[in-house]
Amino acid sequence: MKNFYLIKIGEISLKKGNRKSFEKQLRFNIKKKLKSPSKITIQRGRFFLETEEEDIKNIQYALSTTPGLVSFSRAVKVEKTIDNIKLAALEFAKGLVEKYPLGTFKIESRRADKGFEYTSYEISALVGEYLLDNFLSLKVDVHNPDWIINIEVRNLAYVYGAQERGTGGLPVGSAAKGMLLLSGGIDSPVAGYLMAKRGLRMDAIYFHAYPYTSDDALEKVKTLAEKIAPYLSGLSLFVVPFTDFQLLLKQKAREEEVTLLMRAGMVKIAEMISKKRGSICLVTGESLSQVASQTVESIKYTGSETELPVFRPLIGMDKEDIIKTAISIDTYETSILPFEDCCTIFSPTHPLLKPDSEKLKSSFIMLEGEALLKEAAEKAERIYFKP
Ligand code: ATP
Ligand code: MG
Repeated sequence: MKNFYLIKIGEISLKKGNRKSFEKQLRFNIKKKLKSPSKITIQRGRFFLETEEEDIKNIQYALSTTPGLVSFSRAVKVEKTIDNIKLAALEFAKGLVEKYPLGTFKIESRRADKGFEYTSYEISALVGEYLLDNFLSLKVDVHNPDWIINIEVRNLAYVYGAQERGTGGLPVGSAAKGMLLLSGGIDSPVAGYLMAKRGLRMDAIYFHAYPYTSDDALEKVKTLAEKIAPYLSGLSLFVVPFTDFQLLLKQKAREEEVTLLMRAGMVKIAEMISKKRGSICLVTGESLSQVASQTVESIKYTGSETELPVFRPLIGMDKEDIIKTAISIDTYETSILPFEDCCTIFSPTHPLLKPDSEKLKSSFIMLEGEALLKEAAEKAERIYFKP
């Protein structure tokens, strides 16, 4: 095989009885993103990926966007003799010395096979010495090296250099399926990403109030769906025509109740589509007290309009941290494009801050909007985004 990677898994390794199913899911999710034949073997807390794929960028992309792994490194494996290990280390060192001509280094060794003739300490010392002999400018620094070469002696010897970060978390598909309410804003893509890292598989749903919200707004949501798709291991986006319900609200609802009744309409449609798709929870980008519709009282009401549990992974996060995450998954620049959301256009000047749930529930019934909501759910268009 052309390329070989050593992958470290985090939380999965803490699993006991059901660890195998998490590992199987992670293996499946990684392979789904690779274009060429690949093999993943698992050995005590390590995954070894061997792949025919030559496109290093695609391998790195696959590994850095798949929840469930904490880090990965390009590696080589050799029969376990100290000479083989030295030569493999030398190959890695060549590239690193080029990058850090006057740099310092360190060798880190682990001997999982206690039958191997040298201890971890001895392996590091021998290989370190060998590198010093080969590169005269090199120096050892065990505390603060510019680069590290890792050696693991197991059934074979594995030698690898720099470790790149994965997303951590658990593999998508290891938990149930949910429905992400995806608007064009900063928050909901981040919410989807965070729930994917807890293993939740998701569909997404977007409420589109054409022509009050433009096609640009829809394009923006599609771009966001495409950007989070790798983390979510692919997703279907449901675009719901929401204009008729919005107009019903404008006509019949008390102005200050519009925003919350609109949210109620959203969760009801989301629930209808969830039932058809086997999703058993909703996910939103709500963050406590960020806006009027996200006070405890408001959240209590919107949550009460659905039987499904509503997950709000951003609930305790402040905007700065949310933005940092949005930047890290590359959704931020898209989210801040200035196309109006359906909610902003119809939103009242003085929305309720501390709504009474019972009162709003009866306001909702008075709308007599059930048929409209059902029709909107049926007319939703599904678009698939591959991982
Ligand atoms: P975001 O940044 O995600 O848009 P926000 O801070 O703008 O959130 P709101 O507009 O109040 O907050 O929306 C709260 C949540 O409701 C969103 O995070 C999203 O999950 C959902 N939501 C709002 N508008 C829509 C929409 N048009 N389609 C789908 N979901 C929506
Ligand atoms: Mg919004």
